[in-house]
Amino acid sequence: MKEIIVISGKGGTGKTSVAASLVALAKRSVVADCDVDAADLHLVLDPQIEKVEDFSGGKGATIIPDKCSDCGKCYELCRFEAIIKDDGKKPAYAIDPIACEGCGVCSYFCPEKAIAFEPVVNGRWFISATRYGPMVHARLGIAAENSGKLVSLVRSQAKALAEKDDLPFIIVDGPPGIGCPVIASITGADAVLIITEPTVSGEHDLERVAELAGHFKIPTFVCINKFDLNLEKSKNIEEKSMASGITVIGRIHYDRAVTQAQVKKLPVVEFTGSTVAKDIIAIWDNLIKELN
Ligand code: SF4
Ligand code: SF4
Repeated sequence: MKEIIVISGKGGTGKTSVAASLVALAKRSVVADCDVDAADLHLVLDPQIEKVEDFSGGKGATIIPDKCSDCGKCYELCRFEAIIKDDGKKPAYAIDPIACEGCGVCSYFCPEKAIAFEPVVNGRWFISATRYGPMVHARLGIAAENSGKLVSLVRSQAKALAEKDDLPFIIVDGPPGIGCPVIASITGADAVLIITEPTVSGEHDLERVAELAGHFKIPTFVCINKFDLNLEKSKNIEEKSMASGITVIGRIHYDRAVTQAQVKKLPVVEFTGSTVAKDIIAIWDNLIKELN
């Protein structure tokens, strides 16, 4: 089984569109949408939800009003200014769940044992059926953190499904950027496919994300999307990639069919037989050769 992670230095490079087409080309795979802050692979793959589970990224504190003596100890101790004081209320103290970092200090030191410290639900994850195979995806609550933890959960569930059904591929739509969720999505993967575009920011973001993938010593490949919009910049990206030991696995032409396929909720390789589809098929074939 091979786990292929599709990432990009920033959003809007066509990462999800390429990932959806790779899923269609893989034929037998588990799909994992690890872009948990802005998941949109489901818009193309139309998953039918079969299982929903709550996700708890940590604990949160809540004051139990009947037990609180208004001593103010928690207010003094909280370093995150998550405890609000209002002398006009009973009790005079309340905890802002958004500001609470879940350190547990207030609960530990409350003399009345008046602060509950329990797991908080801040997202949900799903196992769904798609016409290409099972899909694991998730949704993080508004203002919720710990997306790295949720990404790891989605990947481990996808791996368990691939093992159970003896599926040869896990195709992961990773988060954009270089933060904690990206690190959680690439560690231990078999291949990282970076989608970039021929712009100044695309080139800069590629350097950052390639450095990250290189740090984890994962076979890393680059695909230049819409390469024909700026041939000179595309050439720069190719030269820089090769100089960093990263294989340029393919180039994708600019084609309005990509947007039209999104509107039709189809991977572009299923929507059209045009150049862009041929480009992505060539990338998939090259990737398979590299992984074998
Ligand atoms: S430390 Fe406990 S008893 Fe004191 S104000 Fe806070 S919740 Fe109330
Ligand atoms: S758990 Fe920590 S961050 Fe949350 S209210 Fe208590 S002291 Fe503040």
